[in-house]
Amino acid sequence: MKRCAIVILGATGDLARRKLLPGLKKLYNNKQLPSDCTLIASGRNFMTTDDFKRHAKLSSDYPIDITYHAGINGLHELLKCKGSFSRIIFFCALPPSAYVTTARQIKAEGFGKEAILIIEKPFGINAASARELNDALVKEFPEEQIFRIDHYLAKEAVRNLLTLRFANPLFSDIWNSSEIDSIQISSLETLGVESRAAYFDNSGIIRDMVQNHLFQMLSLTAMEPPENLNAETIRASKINLLRSLKVERCICGQYSGYKNEPGIRSGSTTETYAELELSINNPRFKGCPVYIRAAKGCSKSGTDIGITFRPINKGPFASKKDLPANFIIVKIQPQAGIILGLATRVPGSDEIIESTAMNLCYHDAFKHEWPDAYEKLLLDAVSGDRTLFVGAEETETAWTILDDVLDKGYSFEYPFGTTPESKLGAKWIEFSEYCTL
Ligand code: NDP
Repeated sequence: MKRCAIVILGATGDLARRKLLPGLKKLYNNKQLPSDCTLIASGRNFMTTDDFKRHAKLSSDYPIDITYHAGINGLHELLKCKGSFSRIIFFCALPPSAYVTTARQIKAEGFGKEAILIIEKPFGINAASARELNDALVKEFPEEQIFRIDHYLAKEAVRNLLTLRFANPLFSDIWNSSEIDSIQISSLETLGVESRAAYFDNSGIIRDMVQNHLFQMLSLTAMEPPENLNAETIRASKINLLRSLKVERCICGQYSGYKNEPGIRSGSTTETYAELELSINNPRFKGCPVYIRAAKGCSKSGTDIGITFRPINKGPFASKKDLPANFIIVKIQPQAGIILGLATRVPGSDEIIESTAMNLCYHDAFKHEWPDAYEKLLLDAVSGDRTLFVGAEETETAWTILDDVLDKGYSFEYPFGTTPESKLGAKWIEFSEYCTL
């Protein structure tokens, strides 16, 4: 691996403290980062490195060579004193309003081809603002040096989607609307807005979850087979899928009591629940509805992708009524797993056929430890691999699909701690019915 420096901008913030600094420590201790890697923590205020370590609650045995530096001015000189780096990662753990000025400052400070800018979500608030942000960033650094984060892409079960679909002939030939009845992607949380009230109230669940994480998972679930596994080939296939999506229906809800929470505007109409039906307008998936839901304040937490197959229509069982449909559930979190639902004759009976589950639990199948999503993304940035990062066009296209359903308010309330029934006729496959992961 080439010698690299990592600069965390906004190092005093929540993301740096909870994810980035511990993640880098783990990678370093596991010898996944180069031993001569340098870490700069940057915030706007002056403090010593020891002050910063206390602020960030870094243990005295924090293994990476770390220096605190106030602002961006002087960073070039500081890094020059530390040696020569072929790659310098700037992790912008900053409010989105600071992305463009920060990119300008990094360039003005003299950083060029060696710089990689990691940009966090949210990336824009609609198609126009995302375009504006992309245009402004690309004036400072070319697209190849801009790494937009969607940490769901680095979750193992999401990374496995392409393997599941394209490395298993069992599935590759039946992945179309002749065989698949519907696709469901569901991401529920028991928690409410907690400490993110001000951010969430300006955003809502569609911006917070659907535009990025759920659309990225849908892209990988439904895209055409890429010719190879190169980052740009996969990205092109995802963009094609996104371009073929259309929102057919969308309904939003808000959990009761939301408006009374600290940090929420009185009379807020921000949605905490969104359910969408989408069509995929391409030959593979024409006629196969996609249902997506994301919500806070539910009775359960978890993110799953469900694929429900059509009933068998040939052979000796074709005339049998009520045969359970085959299905696949890809469990993304909290645990990773795959369930394959099969029609199985109940032992001892002649007639009764029930749905049974073959269950792959990652923690049972793979005993070794693997990097969490942020750790994986940090590693990929260090090695310059953009596969798990989101491109400019992807993010703009995803916003374009949703532009008509943003900021429409909510049409029903649901009690906090309950999961609303589908309002669009989606038959969510309940993962918990088949597995207690
Ligand atoms: P914080 O609000 O904790 O802010 C991070 C740091 O940015 C602050 O500590 C502050 O440091 C600095 N900062 C604030 N305003 C400015 C500004 N105008 N210009 C330059 N620096 C500024 O944010 P988080 O750490 O929670 O999040 C960082 C980014 O990551 C955000 O874009 C957020 O949306 C995204 N994100 C965060 C997640 C999380 O779990 N926290 C999850 C997913 C995304 P100082 O005052 O020392 O300069």
